[in-house]
Amino acid sequence: MNDVLYLEDSYLKEFNATVKNVDKGKFVVLDKSAFYPNSGGQPWDEGVIKRGDDEFKVVFVGKFSGNISHEVDVVGLKIGDSVNCFIDWDRRYTLMRMHTAAHILSSVVHNDTGALITGNQLGLDRSRIDFNMENFDRTKLSDYLDKANDIINSDLDVKSFYLPRAEAMKLPSVVKLACALPPSIDNLRIVKIGDFDTQADGGTHVKKTSEIGMLELVKVDNKGKNNRRIYFKLTK
Ligand SMILES: [Zn+2]
Repeated sequence: MNDVLYLEDSYLKEFNATVKNVDKGKFVVLDKSAFYPNSGGQPWDEGVIKRGDDEFKVVFVGKFSGNISHEVDVVGLKIGDSVNCFIDWDRRYTLMRMHTAAHILSSVVHNDTGALITGNQLGLDRSRIDFNMENFDRTKLSDYLDKANDIINSDLDVKSFYLPRAEAMKLPSVVKLACALPPSIDNLRIVKIGDFDTQADGGTHVKKTSEIGMLELVKVDNKGKNNRRIYFKLTK
């Protein structure tokens, strides 16, 4: 397995690495990577891998057989190449703000309704969260958004750390969103937003909730009998 740099430092935008494997000329594994692979509802990072003056655009990143694999737009990278890697920071930072926002909003709704979160998909323009509930009190929606924005404005610290699985599962609501939660690992990565929310999570988050800006409701959809979907966006 390659070193996963974004788990330690989600603000790392550039890094040097060595090419470990190349499949079909375009699927590149490095000895380490800060590129986030498509998983847990958070889209992949884009960016550039440079070898001297040669540029290889990263168009998709996935996790295969435990390794982060970077799909590049042109062939040419070889095993052993030393490369400089650059994350498309605007894209990634928006997704980090969206991800922390999704945790806050899902927790606000969960705390009031007890509804579990059955899915989520972050996007650059808007994100969505699916709640396992039959009815949604629409009059409460603006309260939920207000509450989420109050938490954002109170500028809580966001921290990540590891806990043994058995210990983590004792925490209330630690798996209500359950982004990118491999069932087999012994130590769970926990993302904690102040004292407000604690969830098991493998994604990238901002350090302070004030970085999110402000949340706005886009719409609510009924997606089947027990599925209510909330769309939100960031307004600053
Ligand atoms: Zn998450």
